[in-house]
Amino acid sequence: MNHTKYERKYLFQGWHKRGVIGDFEKYYEIYKKTTHCDKCKILLDNSIQLRIKCLDHDHSITTKENFRNILCWKCNIEDQNRQSCKIRKDNKSGFKNISFNFQNNSWCFRRQINKKKIVKYYKNKTHAICYKYILLLKIKSKLI
Ligand SMILES: [Zn+2]
Repeated sequence: MNHTKYERKYLFQGWHKRGVIGDFEKYYEIYKKTTHCDKCKILLDNSIQLRIKCLDHDHSITTKENFRNILCWKCNIEDQNRQSCKIRKDNKSGFKNISFNFQNNSWCFRRQINKKKIVKYYKNKTHAICYKYILLLKIKSKLI
């Protein structure tokens, strides 16, 4: 995968915005060379959302080089989630707002936004996680 000068600038801006610190040219060389997720080993060809190549960094380091891994979209959000959210002890999903509902045998997303309760059920846990992150993006973009 080769990026144009502008695509690269855009990529670097994204890293900067997310709090990545260090030598971006050096990171880019690793980013470019990496073909599979460092954690789950899925092929990273950007063909679908789960195959999007992400630069993972240590959120607790804010003053020096904090690059960690090249991850797929799923491994990256799972990792961010572990660091930034407090998860209830009885919640076995590992994700805030997502829990397993034994009554209807599905994964439940539950959250309150602007006094409105949102409850969604999914058979597949990944779908519930995707819904959660789409909703977060909408909130960030002030679409909700
Ligand atoms: Zn992965």
